[in-house]
Amino acid sequence: MDTKLFVVNDINDEGDIKKIEECAGIIKNGGLVAFPTETVYGLGGNALDDKASMKIYSAKGRPSDNPLIVHIADMSELEPLVKEIPDIAKKLAKLYWPGPLTMIFKKSDLVPYKTTGGLDTVAVRMPSHKVAREFIRKSGLPIAAPSANVSGRPSPTTAKHVMDDLDGRIDAVIDGGQVDIGLESTIIDVSSDVPMLLRPGFITMEMLEEAAGDVERDPTLTKGVSKGLKPKAPGMMYRHYAPKGDMAIVEGAMEDVIARINHLAGEHNASETAVITTTDNKDKYTGCRVFCIGDRNDDETIAKELYAVLREMDDYSIKYIYVESFKNGKHGEAIMNRLVKAAGHKIIHV
Ligand code: AMP
Ligand code: MG
Repeated sequence: MDTKLFVVNDINDEGDIKKIEECAGIIKNGGLVAFPTETVYGLGGNALDDKASMKIYSAKGRPSDNPLIVHIADMSELEPLVKEIPDIAKKLAKLYWPGPLTMIFKKSDLVPYKTTGGLDTVAVRMPSHKVAREFIRKSGLPIAAPSANVSGRPSPTTAKHVMDDLDGRIDAVIDGGQVDIGLESTIIDVSSDVPMLLRPGFITMEMLEEAAGDVERDPTLTKGVSKGLKPKAPGMMYRHYAPKGDMAIVEGAMEDVIARINHLAGEHNASETAVITTTDNKDKYTGCRVFCIGDRNDDETIAKELYAVLREMDDYSIKYIYVESFKNGKHGEAIMNRLVKAAGHKIIHV
């Protein structure tokens, strides 16, 4: 299959609108289109068509018990998808929609089980990205869209990442430039009495509690996945975001971290060893390739570059990767949730 690439910069431009309309037509005909959102690129298909959902799983190589998030452009599209809209969901929507928050509801009969991975609940999000919303509106359908990467690879934050993974496997890609946030949405389950955080993201626990009062964390977020403990979001179980090389997070007082990484890097060939660091430390490493991911005082910059840097590890065929810890900033919980998985839970305390 030939994958068409449409560059779209301006939803007020007539030519760009034509491209969005062509992509909306592909969705209406049961095809797949990857598109930018403010979090990461999504791989979209008609959420109400079980065949489109199956195509999504197959293009990504995603296990079909890992449900898809359904994207809408307007509040009126929520009601037909769900059994009820709890008051807490209304409050959260008022504050954080459109935006990087996914809510889990009891699903209506309209939503096929193929889209929800066999669950009686459905995940819904209203993205804020202008191109995404215009594309959903023109499709006139709710759009099921997981991250547009091959399963297990880091999520795509540019159209090039999408093409690297899915060229030839999907109908089209809308290129709207690099995304803003760079981490997948926060997921909160509002289908039971006490709302529960299932995946940390740009909307932090503090922001959720401000709106919803008491919010629990899925126990696997703090205790990890084990035989007796399964995450409520099936996707949180899988190995994710991982580069091919051997990756470890080094945590502790900063000068000790730098000394340990320099020591560890000295044991390997410099060209196949990498450190992932920030602007303030980037000149303190020797004997390895240095990747600067952002600014420690503004960890939105770290979130935004995280997946691109993880992908670069494979581009440079890096075998040994050492990463500083980023757990102390505002977005520390979300960033470390991905990093710890990418490192296969390998953390060196110094
Ligand atoms: P992705 O779109 O690739 O970021 O993946 C979507 C995430 O949402 C996965 O971790 C899914 O397991 C999770 N998810 C989607 N629908 C549900 C649901 N109904 N209940 C719990 N988690 C869900
Ligand atoms: Mg994903």
